[in-house]
Amino acid sequence: MTPLEALLIRRIRATGPIRLADYMAECLLHPQHGYYTTRPPFGAEGDFTTAPEISQMFGELLGLALAQAWLDRGAPAPFTLAELGPGRGTLMADILRATARVPGFHAAAQVVLVEASPALRDRQRATLGTHPVAWADTAGALPEAPLFLIANEFFDALPIRQFTRDAAGWRETMVTAPDRLAFARAAPAPIAALDHRLADTSPGEVVEICPAAAPIMAEIASRIAHHGGVALIVDYGGWRSRGDTFQALRHHAFADPLAAPGEADLTAHVDFEALAQAAAPCAGACVTQGALLAALGIAARSTALAARLTGPALESHLAATRRLTDPSEMGTLFKALALHAPGTPPPPGFA
Ligand code: SAH
Repeated sequence: MTPLEALLIRRIRATGPIRLADYMAECLLHPQHGYYTTRPPFGAEGDFTTAPEISQMFGELLGLALAQAWLDRGAPAPFTLAELGPGRGTLMADILRATARVPGFHAAAQVVLVEASPALRDRQRATLGTHPVAWADTAGALPEAPLFLIANEFFDALPIRQFTRDAAGWRETMVTAPDRLAFARAAPAPIAALDHRLADTSPGEVVEICPAAAPIMAEIASRIAHHGGVALIVDYGGWRSRGDTFQALRHHAFADPLAAPGEADLTAHVDFEALAQAAAPCAGACVTQGALLAALGIAARSTALAARLTGPALESHLAATRRLTDPSEMGTLFKALALHAPGTPPPPGFA
């Protein structure tokens, strides 16, 4: 039994079953035993690999798209270049390298990383070296300034609540502790946030909501609406939540999400419709990751990099290109949402 499991069982026995969102929050960010607080979870030895860890092309293309959006908006200075949940800092490092030759971009950019885990902040500091960077605890602490923001696989790590439709309302998924941890469903209740889903679901269907996402989207949207800018949000998920998508990954394989609290990565599909709605009055455009990277020129960039490679390095570069773009890999499951102020064009790749 992990230390966090013992702690959760004691808590549940004392005060009753907890929501999935509370379980997820404890597992991911508990100060002593949380997944992100205790380990660097990425890469070959970790539990999962993300697009920037697969290939430098991801950060290069998205970085240049942000820089072009900044130029298209008259190169406002100063501006905030922000990332939510930067992991090892690889994506921001690739963005900064790719944009180094965009005149004025670095001089005007104040880099702000929104990161909850002290261990990962240290890791990001090491990756970004001498580049001046500030950290923020929440999106609400971002400066009131033009905002050019990126988030990759951030929203899928935010705690979700899960509900099963019932004739009489919604039954929430709870975590209980009869002996070990187990799922249970609460008694049916009306859920105001799901009133609009009564029309397109039937009894037995599962839907999920991510209560932490809307306030974050509102903070980003208010800065973009008032000061200008764009946000690029990339993650796996779909346009409207449907079905049980709560999952655990451990050592690159699916695992029982209740089996080893604090030692597996827990995620759920991102509901891009909910993110876009929470970003009003900003406009949102949504495309697949494959379509976005193709529009931003991944084929030409991949060919240019391939020209300098041979043997296994070339093989792995070509495999990485496929992994990011192929519909059977990340190309279709992953989506990108662009937010931009009403009346302004979307960033490159979203036209
Ligand atoms: N973007 C990175 C890592 C994604 S993992 C990549 O693509 O490789 C999720 C990241 O979000 C981690 O850095 C994690 O510590 C951070 N995170 C998770 N929940 C958070 C929260 N509530 N506030 C701030 N950061 C959070």
